Amino acid sequence: MNGEANARAMPPASTRRGRLAHIVTLGCQMNVRDSQTLAGMLARMGYGFTDRMDEADLILFNTCSVRENPERKIYGQVSSLRQLKERRPDLIIGLTGCMPQQRPELERMQVSLPHVDLIMGTLNLHRFPELLQQVMETGRRVVEVWHDEGPIVEGLPVLREPGSVTAFVSVIYGCDYRCTFCVVPNTRGRQRSRRPEAIEEEVRSLVAEGVREVTLLGQTVNAYGRDLPERGITLARLLRRLSRIEGLERLRFTSNHPREVTEELIEAMAELPKVMEHIHLAVQSGSDRILHRMGRRYTAEEFVEQVTAMRRRIPDLAVTTDIIVGFPGETERDFEATLELVRAVRFDGAFTFVYSPRPGTAALRLPDPVPEPVKRERIQRLIELQNAISLERNQVYRGRVEEILVEGASEKDPERLSGRTRTNKVVVFDAPPSARTRLVGQLVDVRVEAVNTWTLFGRLTDGPQEAASIGAVPAAARASEPS
Ligand code: SF4
Repeated sequence: MNGEANARAMPPASTRRGRLAHIVTLGCQMNVRDSQTLAGMLARMGYGFTDRMDEADLILFNTCSVRENPERKIYGQVSSLRQLKERRPDLIIGLTGCMPQQRPELERMQVSLPHVDLIMGTLNLHRFPELLQQVMETGRRVVEVWHDEGPIVEGLPVLREPGSVTAFVSVIYGCDYRCTFCVVPNTRGRQRSRRPEAIEEEVRSLVAEGVREVTLLGQTVNAYGRDLPERGITLARLLRRLSRIEGLERLRFTSNHPREVTEELIEAMAELPKVMEHIHLAVQSGSDRILHRMGRRYTAEEFVEQVTAMRRRIPDLAVTTDIIVGFPGETERDFEATLELVRAVRFDGAFTFVYSPRPGTAALRLPDPVPEPVKRERIQRLIELQNAISLERNQVYRGRVEEILVEGASEKDPERLSGRTRTNKVVVFDAPPSARTRLVGQLVDVRVEAVNTWTLFGRLTDGPQEAASIGAVPAAARASEPS
C-alpha cells in the first residue's frame, strides 16, 4: 500500500470541441496509471479532455477505498452533480476504481447515486470502451464489476502528460498478502505479474517518446515474478533487463513489502547505476504485537536490520515509509515502540495515517478501538518527530552537488526549475531563462544551498561542462550498466 491520496491525473485539455471528458482520480499511483489508460481509450474513441466538469460530456471518477475520507469525498462530489445531470440528461457520469469492487459499496452507490450511468471495477478496465458505448447506445445504466481476475490485457492505449520526462509503468497487479487493515486484495485481486518482454516493450516506447525516468509500480512491486510460470523472474532481473535500454536514465520501483526485499534486489540496486538510491518500504508500526495483529509477517527488529543491511551496501540510500497510527489495540507502549523505530531508522520521509476501519477487512472485527482524540494526538507526535528527522536528513545535502533530472518548472515557483535527486528529494533551483526549456529532461548538477523539511533549493553548478551546456550533462555521459 502506498500513501498518496487525492492525486488527480488529467490529460491536457483539448482544443477541439468534440465530445469532452473530465477524469477525477483519487488514490495511489496505480490509480493515476489506470486513469492514463482510461484517457488513452477515450482518446481512441475520439474524446478530448477538459478541466471543467460543467462543459464535459463524460465525467469519470476513478475512486479509492484505502481510507474512508476519499470515499466520502466521492459520494459528496457525485451527489452534487445531480442537478447538472438534470439540466443535461445527455451527460454521462461514470464510477470506476476500488470502490465498486467492494460489494457493499457497489450496492450503496447503485441505490444512493441513481444519476450515475456507468459503474465498473478495476479488473475489467479494458472493457471500458464497450461499456461506455452501451451507455451511449441504450441511454441506460450499465454496471459491470468483475470479482475474478482475468488474464492481463496488454497493449491498451495510454495517454500521458505530453512532454513528461517521467512515467509510471505497472508491472504487477493485485496482492497475495492479507494485511488485516487493507482492502487491496479485495479490490485488486490476487497478484498477477506482467511478462517482462511486455514491460520492456512499454519502457522502450516511453523512452522513444522522451521519457527519461520510469517508476515500476505494484502494490508489492518487489514480489514481481513470483506468480509467473517460469522460475527465476524477479524484480532484480527485471531491473537489470530494463537498465540496458539506451536513453533510459533512471529506474525506480514502488511500493515494497519488507518480506520481499532479497539480497538479489539489494545487489541489483547497489550495482546498477540507473537504479536510484531510494526505497519506499512500508513498516506500518514499530510494535511487534501490532505488526502481528496487522498480519505483516515481520518484527520491528527484522525491519531495522533489513534497513541497516541495505544502507551498508548502498550508503546514500534514502528510505521512506508508511505508518498507521491507532490500529485497534494500540496502547501507548505500542505507539512508543513506533516512535522508537522511527528514531532508530531515521526515515527520509513517511506517509502517516490514522487507522480507518475498512469494510471487508479482518481488522474490522478486532477489539479495542483507539479513541479518535488519542489517534489524533499520537499522529501529531509522530508527524513532529518525522518532520524533525526529515529536516535533519535534508541538512546533510547542504553544500553537496547533486545529480538532478529536470522535470519542468516548479509548481510553486514557476520562475525556477524543479527535479529530483537520485534519492527522490525534490530540488527547486535557478536556471537562466534562456536555458529552462532546453534543460527539461536533462541530468544536471545542482549545488544545494538551502533545505527545508520537504524540499532542497540550489543552483546549477559552475563546472566546466556548464560553459558549454549551461549545466546540462549529456545523457550518454551518465549512468550505464556495467557490462
Ligand atoms: S501488502 Fe498488505 S498493505 Fe500492501 S497491498 Fe498487500 S494487503 Fe495491502
